[in-house]
Amino acid sequence: MVPSGVLGLEVNPKKCEFFPCSAEARDSFATFSHLLPGLKEVSAQSFALLGSPICSEAIPEAFEERRQLLLMAAERLGDLPAHVALVLLRVCFAVPKIIYFLRTVPAWLYPDHIDSFDYVLKESVERLLNVSLNPDQWVLASLPIRNGGLGIRRARDVSLPAFLASSEGVVGLVTKILSVNGDRPTIPFASDAVAAWRTLNPNVPMPDKLDRQRLWDDIGVRRVFDGLLEGAVGADKARLLAVSRPEAGAWLQALPSPHMGTLLDNNSMRVAVALRLGCDVCEPHICICGTMVESNGHHALSCCRCVGRFPRHHALNDIVRRALLSANVPCMLEPPGLSRTDGKRPDGLTLIPWEKGKCLLWDATCVSTFAASHMGRTVRAAGAAAELAALRKRDKYSALLTKYLFVPLAVETSGCWCAEAKIFLSELGQRLREGGHDPRSGSFLMQRLSIAVQRGNAASVMGTFASGRARDGLFD
Ligand SMILES: [Zn+2]
Repeated sequence: MVPSGVLGLEVNPKKCEFFPCSAEARDSFATFSHLLPGLKEVSAQSFALLGSPICSEAIPEAFEERRQLLLMAAERLGDLPAHVALVLLRVCFAVPKIIYFLRTVPAWLYPDHIDSFDYVLKESVERLLNVSLNPDQWVLASLPIRNGGLGIRRARDVSLPAFLASSEGVVGLVTKILSVNGDRPTIPFASDAVAAWRTLNPNVPMPDKLDRQRLWDDIGVRRVFDGLLEGAVGADKARLLAVSRPEAGAWLQALPSPHMGTLLDNNSMRVAVALRLGCDVCEPHICICGTMVESNGHHALSCCRCVGRFPRHHALNDIVRRALLSANVPCMLEPPGLSRTDGKRPDGLTLIPWEKGKCLLWDATCVSTFAASHMGRTVRAAGAAAELAALRKRDKYSALLTKYLFVPLAVETSGCWCAEAKIFLSELGQRLREGGHDPRSGSFLMQRLSIAVQRGNAASVMGTFASGRARDGLFD
């Protein structure tokens, strides 16, 4: 046998740890430490691999450590703009920070610890965004953005999917390493995890690919969302249906940057989040139009003197104009010489043909999901108010349809677009990509439009108080 030193391999005792699996093994520590001076003995409470505890005894302390780190991170995030803080919390400091821990330990067996971590998370969201969340609103906030939430996942919801996917993902490799005489080693707690998952999701088949966390998670997310929807009526139901449309959360996916105009100020952020989750937006008060504004702020979104409407309308058209120009399609706003049936001009016109040799006219409109005239439709289907607005626009342009293509850019205050607008914006994104722009150009375009809608909502809410002064600066 060649001594290890000859090969240049030396054991560094200071980096070695000794963990006794039994009382007899503990007695042999003296022998080992004599051979390796500096060898450290670790207890079951501190025995960890890559930062994740190996023994159950260590899990409560590991939870507490992570809770403290979250507390510290949340406190420091408070120094940043709310929009930036929310993005950082979502993608870095909340569950993503502990995902390896959740994938490797049976965290769901420690409900008190997991709830106390989630409690800190909820408090952090409330403090950073200046909103108050009731239990249902917190559950909605904890769903992924594509399902109507803020994407701040609760450790309680993620722990089982994470552990199940991880244990299924490693079982093949573990078998290869540890299998003796063809027997299959089992992953500790894996069968408990499956049993716990079946209790939560009775009569639901397991995902096709067992090692995909997203597939396990999607089933739980659907269950939670359906639970919320089941108990909702009226405006709450319309809101839930609307925010569960993927495009309604585009503003939450945007990278907050003041240079790109995608940073929402703290108040706009608060209003946008409150409208999405159904939290109180303001104290009930009398609007400048004389109507009562309830605490949900919905009146502001359809008020006849709504001050957010004009800057939002201008912003939507300007974003589309700029995107068309970037895609090498010359265009102009408010083209002279073209008028619709009511004598008004369309919002924009491409100056070269868009399709089949015809130039494209567009007209933007933003309608409230919660207006009394729309609620009958929006409680039944997401985006129904936008579809109706699109239909009305098309009627007004009937005289111009023989010569031009027309697309109604109808969006709801909740962020749902009409189908025609979605097709047009997706085509515009495609042309931007083909023109050599960023492969994510289409998503960036949707995010900018979505942010303009949310800014308009915030301006409308602030405009109900007095002569519009409160909205100053929102669109600067
Ligand atoms: Zn009003």
